[in-house]
Amino acid sequence: MEILEKVKTRVYKFGNKTADGNSKMKNLLGGKGANLAEMSSLGIPVPPGFTITTEVCTEYNTLGKENVVELIKDELEESIANIETLMGSKFGDKTNPLLVSVRSGARVSMPGMMDTVLNLGINDEVVQGLAKKTNNEQFAWDSYRRFIQMYGGVVLGMKPASKEDIDPFEEIMEHLKHKRGIKLDTEFSVQDLKDLVYDFKEAVKKRTGHNFPTDPWDQLWGAIIAVFNSWNGDRAVYYRTMHGYPADWGTAVNVQAMVYGNMGENSGTGVCFTRDAGTGENVFNGEYLINAQGEDVVAGVRTPQQITHLGSQRWAELAKIEEEDRLKNYPSLEELMPSIFEELNTYQDVLEKHYRDMQDMEFTIQDGKLWILQTRNGKRTGAAMVKIAMDLLKEGMIDEKETLLRIEPNKLDELLHPIFDPDALKRSQVIAQGLPASPGAATGKIVFFADEAAKFKNSILVRIETSPEDLEGMNIAKGILTARGGMTSHAAVVARGMGKCCVSGAGALKINYKTRTLTVDGHEYHEGDWISLNGSTGNIFEGKVATMEPELSGEFAELMTLTDKYGQMKVRTNADTPKDAKVARNFGAQGIGLTRTEHMFFEVDRIKAMREMILADTVKGRKQALEDLLPMQRSDFEGIFEAMEGLAVTIRLLDPPLHEFVPHQLATQKELAEDMHISLQAVKNKVAELEEFNPMLGHRGCRLGNTYPEITEMQTRAIIEAALNLKARGIKSKPEIMIPLVGTVKEFEAQEQIIRRTADVIFEERNDSIDYLVGTMIEVPRAALMADLIAEKADFFSFGTNDLTQMTFGYSRDDVGKFLPVYYEKGILKVDPFEVLDKEGVGQLVRLGTDRGRSSKPNLKIGICGEHGGEPSSIEFCYNLGMDYVSCSPYRVPIARLVSAQAAIKSTM
Ligand code: ADP
Ligand code: MG
Ligand code: MG
Repeated sequence: MEILEKVKTRVYKFGNKTADGNSKMKNLLGGKGANLAEMSSLGIPVPPGFTITTEVCTEYNTLGKENVVELIKDELEESIANIETLMGSKFGDKTNPLLVSVRSGARVSMPGMMDTVLNLGINDEVVQGLAKKTNNEQFAWDSYRRFIQMYGGVVLGMKPASKEDIDPFEEIMEHLKHKRGIKLDTEFSVQDLKDLVYDFKEAVKKRTGHNFPTDPWDQLWGAIIAVFNSWNGDRAVYYRTMHGYPADWGTAVNVQAMVYGNMGENSGTGVCFTRDAGTGENVFNGEYLINAQGEDVVAGVRTPQQITHLGSQRWAELAKIEEEDRLKNYPSLEELMPSIFEELNTYQDVLEKHYRDMQDMEFTIQDGKLWILQTRNGKRTGAAMVKIAMDLLKEGMIDEKETLLRIEPNKLDELLHPIFDPDALKRSQVIAQGLPASPGAATGKIVFFADEAAKFKNSILVRIETSPEDLEGMNIAKGILTARGGMTSHAAVVARGMGKCCVSGAGALKINYKTRTLTVDGHEYHEGDWISLNGSTGNIFEGKVATMEPELSGEFAELMTLTDKYGQMKVRTNADTPKDAKVARNFGAQGIGLTRTEHMFFEVDRIKAMREMILADTVKGRKQALEDLLPMQRSDFEGIFEAMEGLAVTIRLLDPPLHEFVPHQLATQKELAEDMHISLQAVKNKVAELEEFNPMLGHRGCRLGNTYPEITEMQTRAIIEAALNLKARGIKSKPEIMIPLVGTVKEFEAQEQIIRRTADVIFEERNDSIDYLVGTMIEVPRAALMADLIAEKADFFSFGTNDLTQMTFGYSRDDVGKFLPVYYEKGILKVDPFEVLDKEGVGQLVRLGTDRGRSSKPNLKIGICGEHGGEPSSIEFCYNLGMDYVSCSPYRVPIARLVSAQAAIKSTM
């Protein structure tokens, strides 16, 4: 057994233009290790080293330290010997020492993994040898103090004592700098560095109770085990759980010969990108520092300089630095070390062509020789993602299908909403975080009540939660912030529909409507105070953060055209107003999949008529009120049909419980009583009468239309007349009337009869007719089960997956916020089922409903109109079920078009 175990390779070597591994082995070698191997084989100068596989990490977790050391000891020693041969130096040697770096690297780049330790293998004797060998005492001692700092922090846990404290090593350095009257790390004298090393070691001993490890092999094993342990650190586990990455992936460990950027004026280190990660522009760019090591560039210890001449000039312009000053103090690498620059320029080109994607690279220059330390596909903004993919297509590097697959659907969102100015963001203070409910950037003054949203020119509506009564105010506000509610809370859904920035469920907010205050962490904010919301991250900022409008690029339009070439499933939109419909159409919506008529009743002048209708005690009284509503609905529909000229428009009949429409505040109740010439008590009685124990399962949906047929009659009339009016103006419309919340065939039939009868009456009155469909939502589990019978009657199905999820799980969508966080933490649920369709459970009902529906009507038109219609994995699921369309909020239409194309491409692969 033991012998067998030893047979498999656990350590993969690279260096000297060869490698045991390659870039396809990311699962085994981690991203960093796989790419180091690949670069080495490509002949790019990579310091020699080796990668301990991710499998060893998993073995460590079950076998423990001793056994794992035993397992890999031989291979490790042999691999170190290999580096020694290639570098002509020896690990732990006192005259000709080899130092190494120890770097973690999982298969995907992950926060929480161990930070890199550089210069490992140094101690009080080795440092002398290093100084002699390089004839550079300054460099040797600088490397030593860096090592203790890194190893102490990363491996020995020398972290700041509390969040208010600074790093213990930084503190010692600051103290010395102050004493010596210097500013930069590079200004330390050799004696200073020696003192630092001494003080650092003392600090370690004091805090940990142990001497700092002096044996290079102890140091090495310590660092390797620390990398393994970091895989199970809190932050890593949290991140893994959130993304659903399994615990047995493990992380690899890379051990690599050090190359030194801190050897003097002829050395340095830097980071570069083959294209602009912000804009996607095809320009090589990056930053470097002379006489520096590792993270100095990113950490900002000194102002980094630009790699290219062009970049340097652009930078100087922004920093308002004169050309003369720039040349003298901040020359580009291109100017300072032209031949190194040329070589780097060649490698970036080779690597980009090889990986056929924008690369993010790290390099170090040791005494005039260039080394490449890392390459990976670079992270980029949504805008850069689109531009780079389209450019690579035009350059012939990737084909159309790959271009489409390269686009991350959810990142398209960034392009469609106002965004924060990245510079302004850096200077802003995050006060709390909620859910990124609706992307975009909003900044404004706090208001606590919807009817006061217009109080300021720019307002942010801050609510514990929102309700349909708040609609108008939400529309006026620049952004919406709620303390309660999930990703499908009222606030979230409405905001996404409006394309308005929204952060929901920010539990840390204490909102007091009485005192009109918002309290976070003991800090109080008042009405009129400025705050800013990032709907893409859920961050809430104090004050006014500058925003900018996104500009839709030509590449974006080209990408969208390309989606149509491959997409088979149509994309419709959920739109309640002509304005939304127009926005969606501009984004390429091919129809409306859901118009919620109730939203039309909330506008000021209408809500009154609506309330009169609800409060009416007789059919006659109700009909009178409905007559007042008819012209308003009709003109709404005309507007929407006109905006969607020629395309199908699905209109859902009245759905919510009537209780949502009646006034709950005394003042409004009084007003209504006066308007209707009835007593306040009568109004109060009616409100009480409409109260339900479970409104979501109560008197709503087609149950309304079946108890008050006159409502269905009025709505049908408004729809049909609107279509006829447009026809008279030469505008074609295709209404699809949708009956909500059907559970039995009879419920459907009863409503259908009213609709068809009403339509026939109008056709006779007008002596004209139009085509229309009558279909139903499938959102009650029973409807999915009875789908074959319902399909015999219905012209179409539209899956209302919000209610279907609610009723299948038995979770109230407005209350999930209370237990979802706990469910995530305990691993009971991974994602919010109201956001991502539960394919396993609810998905079965969708599949069943689709199959049974089509079994009795093979060409039954089927779509989805729940919030899931805009969520990539759910869209793909719908495509695979053979749906005709998905319908989503206007701003998600481009995303759905992309996913529709991607799903079609994937199904042929
Ligand atoms: P991260 O994943 O945080 O980027 P890295 O392992 O890439 O961590 O290393 C951090 C820094 O140290 C980078 O700037 C990298 O180039 C540098 N570095 C890593 N190994 C070496 C080495 N062997 N010689 C010189 N610099 C190195
Ligand atoms: Mg790196
Ligand atoms: Mg519903």
